[in-house]
Amino acid sequence: MSVVGWKTDVPSLHAATTDIARSSVGSQRGPGFGGTPIKIGHEATLAFDRVPTYRHDVTCSDTSIRQEVAVQVQFWGTRGSIPRPGPTTIRYGGNTLCHGIRTARGTLVIIDCGTGLHGLGLKLLSGGRGLAGHILISHTHWDHIQGVPFFAPFFVPGNKWDIYGPKGLNQSLRDTLAGQMQHTYFPITPDEFGASIRYHDLLEGTFEIDDIKVTTQYLNHPALTLGYRLEADGATIVYCCDHEPFSRDVAEGHREFFGLDQQHADFIEGADLLIHDAQYTAAEYPSKVGWGHSSTEFVVKLAQHTKVKHVVLTHHDPLRTDEALDGIVEKLRDGLKANHSTVLVSAATEGEAIEVKSSSALASRSSREDFSAMTSVKPALSHRSVLIKVADVELATALGEAVIAEGLRANFCSNADTARKLIEQDPPALAIIDHAIAHDNETAVLELLRSTKGGKLPVVMVAAREHEEKGVTDWLTTPFTDSYARTKIRAWVLRESCRWIRAPIPEDEPARLTSLRALDLLDTEPEERFDRITRVATALFNVPMATITLVDERRQWFKSCQGTAGREDSRDASFCAHVISNREPMIVVDTLSDERFADNPLVLGGPRIRFYAGYPLTLDDGSCIGTLCLLDTRPHTLKELDLEQLRDLALIVMEQFQTLKVERAQRSRQV
Ligand SMILES: [Zn+2]
Ligand SMILES: [Zn+2]
Repeated sequence: MSVVGWKTDVPSLHAATTDIARSSVGSQRGPGFGGTPIKIGHEATLAFDRVPTYRHDVTCSDTSIRQEVAVQVQFWGTRGSIPRPGPTTIRYGGNTLCHGIRTARGTLVIIDCGTGLHGLGLKLLSGGRGLAGHILISHTHWDHIQGVPFFAPFFVPGNKWDIYGPKGLNQSLRDTLAGQMQHTYFPITPDEFGASIRYHDLLEGTFEIDDIKVTTQYLNHPALTLGYRLEADGATIVYCCDHEPFSRDVAEGHREFFGLDQQHADFIEGADLLIHDAQYTAAEYPSKVGWGHSSTEFVVKLAQHTKVKHVVLTHHDPLRTDEALDGIVEKLRDGLKANHSTVLVSAATEGEAIEVKSSSALASRSSREDFSAMTSVKPALSHRSVLIKVADVELATALGEAVIAEGLRANFCSNADTARKLIEQDPPALAIIDHAIAHDNETAVLELLRSTKGGKLPVVMVAAREHEEKGVTDWLTTPFTDSYARTKIRAWVLRESCRWIRAPIPEDEPARLTSLRALDLLDTEPEERFDRITRVATALFNVPMATITLVDERRQWFKSCQGTAGREDSRDASFCAHVISNREPMIVVDTLSDERFADNPLVLGGPRIRFYAGYPLTLDDGSCIGTLCLLDTRPHTLKELDLEQLRDLALIVMEQFQTLKVERAQRSRQV
């Protein structure tokens, strides 16, 4: 094993802590910046020094691999729970979790902000490189965020950083991060950072950071936690901290992967590098069930199951010594060798750099691949309820309190009849049901839940042990902590809030957008020639709302709107986006019984759309740019004749578009 030399060039945490706290308040600058100009911009590259590259016996010694290197990953903190510096952790490191990832093009992503972030921040500044970057936070437990107040680049005016983390139900990511910097705990607040920082609340789905495609998926931990799958330069890196297997049987190796553990595996599938929580050994795990972490043995089995090339165990237990980690890795490697496995395994080492070459990695099989992780689901989150059917009074009360603490309504039912009524009056986002009840004499409740929302209502079953069962989406195994219950409730409600189906992007999208922009109608004032058409439409079809909608890259924008507030919505939630995608009229008689729209934020929140009818608006070059649409807050039908009349009105709108074009052309000729 080669020597890791980083300790010589990273000043002590204590010294810089004091410096940052003192100097930043007065000068808005962090320590040691002097007058060094800092360049900003995506083109600017950030290098972690190459010096501390630690070559695994099994990874980086092959020169042919090094020639194809694409993405560099460096470990700045590897310890879980609490920093543990000292003689027993000197090789694997005592700082809590932090990782730097740099693509060949220079895009920098930092994952998690434990105390390791401090050293990384100083290294970035000492390199004098441009300081714009992106930070992904898995969850907001201390060991993943405690470095934030000490990240020197945040103190440099002009720097630009983006921070991403799991969306909460009641609190934004920014507010949560600011919590640890309240006056009682820290001398400065995030408002005093010199850098401009943008915060992004994430759901399960995908998004892009420059040249990196990021996919997110919830992990199993007593705080809402996202795993990250990063694909760039043909290489795939997956990060899963903190995570405990969903099933205890799977965790202990008594069963093959199934259910949510298989979903976790699908998310990881084929990664070139997997960095995974492995705080415990299999022998320690039984006394740590429910603490939200994995065993080293489980993680290696997972890596084999998902055909990962190299798995790095991390989130080392604070009490784990360097010698103990050596022994664990050696034993795991022996086991893999005996199985003729090609999976490489190592334990994350502070200062270590791993270069991940491009490969023909399998694509993720995440079920949310098509959903933007940054979709706004705010309207869908209002007025949500959870249906509870649990016999044990103490348990039911605890669950009710957990639901209310998440800002949701708890509806308790005693039998199938009351459940049916509650589902009708207050459609739940989630049902929690007791295992014993469902099976003793009231299977009717489970049957009812299975058929609710076309079988798509998530059902969490409370039981002492989970197993495969039809109609059950997830398990809450007893005894559980309040944090576990709240996290599970939050994850399922958030999932439900983005379950509606987004319209596919039309094949001619670039040309369509060009034609739309050439019309020069977006963001213009309302015009009587269009408003009179929507007025006639509301009267003719006896609906409260009608709009002339244009769909651009990110939004639907209303040239004319009768009966609606606001002039635009996100394209993700847009009904009209379906029309322009199919280029055909679309009628939704009752949104609540249509799987594509039942959970749409415009259905669950304002304007609470129950009925939609849209007719495509096309230009003379064939581009479908928007719709003339009718909306109602009650279900509605549209007869054949009605549709013909809607088409007639749509044709008038299209004629107006043509007239506009001609008018513009005449005006430009006169000029
Ligand atoms: Zn942790
Ligand atoms: Zn944690």
